[in-house]
Amino acid sequence: MTVSDTTVNRPVKTVPMLSVRGLQKIYKVPGGEVEAVRDLTFDLAEGELVCLVGPSGSGKTTLLKCISGLMEQTSGTVELAGSKVTGPPKSMAVVFQEYGRSLFPWMTVRGNVELPLKNQKVPKAERTALVDAALKSVGLDHVPKSYPWQLSGGMQQRVAIARAVAYRPQVLLMDEPFAAVDAQTRADLEDLIRTIWKQLGVTILFVTHDIDESVYLGERVIVLSSSPTVVQEDLKIDLPAERDQLNTRALPRFMELRSHVYAEIQRAKLGPVTEQITAQRKAARK
Ligand code: ADP
Ligand code: MG
Repeated sequence: MTVSDTTVNRPVKTVPMLSVRGLQKIYKVPGGEVEAVRDLTFDLAEGELVCLVGPSGSGKTTLLKCISGLMEQTSGTVELAGSKVTGPPKSMAVVFQEYGRSLFPWMTVRGNVELPLKNQKVPKAERTALVDAALKSVGLDHVPKSYPWQLSGGMQQRVAIARAVAYRPQVLLMDEPFAAVDAQTRADLEDLIRTIWKQLGVTILFVTHDIDESVYLGERVIVLSSSPTVVQEDLKIDLPAERDQLNTRALPRFMELRSHVYAEIQRAKLGPVTEQITAQRKAARK
């Protein structure tokens, strides 16, 4: 992205918050290789909320693991605010789908949220304030002393979100975080994410296979092809900033956008290779 520099009247580059360039990941498996991600390139500007939607097995989790520095890519680069990611960066937080496994059952809600801050050696008074604010922002300030197993699935996922938020990350990555909760809870959690996003101004990359969720939540939707994965489309979601489950989902524009993404996903399922073959055959017939 460029903006004009009025003092010297020449364009200056603004560094994206997150930049993924030519990312490829090939897994070594017994007897061969699996190319999960082929060539992914996209940027997130500071403060954007972008949804990434793709069919199951299209490499979404693989991509997030590479972005968060938990796993090394085969080729390509990931940059966070202009610095190359080579291991888990302090200013990034991840919320996974399997909240059940990501919370420690022997620690209270407060203990779970506080843990990464303790590891970072944040002073006690500051830690307490950050945990209090995070629990309040996810609506769990009434159960700090409960244990995760005493809470519903939706509440457990709120604890995982609070833990990520307390950390005050610059970038929040979420991997299908609501796939395992019921529809009503899911709707509430979607609204919670938009509220937190607005409150904190954090940059969010939200991965989902749910088309409606991607359109409802995102300011932009990146559609992935099936594996080996490339970016199939990068779509701006021009819905009003104030969204609510009943009215936004009933808007004609919402329907248009979800139908468009649905058609893209259907096309994505054919995969880039199939498309290439079809194009080659068409060209040969001419
Ligand atoms: P998604 O999250 O979109 O469902 P994944 O990133 O989990 O997709 O998987 C993408 C592809 O990579 C799949 O074909 C999957 O089987 C393969 N894959 C994922 N993890 C591994 C692994 N650790 N070793 C080998 N293959 C893997
Ligand atoms: Mg996945």
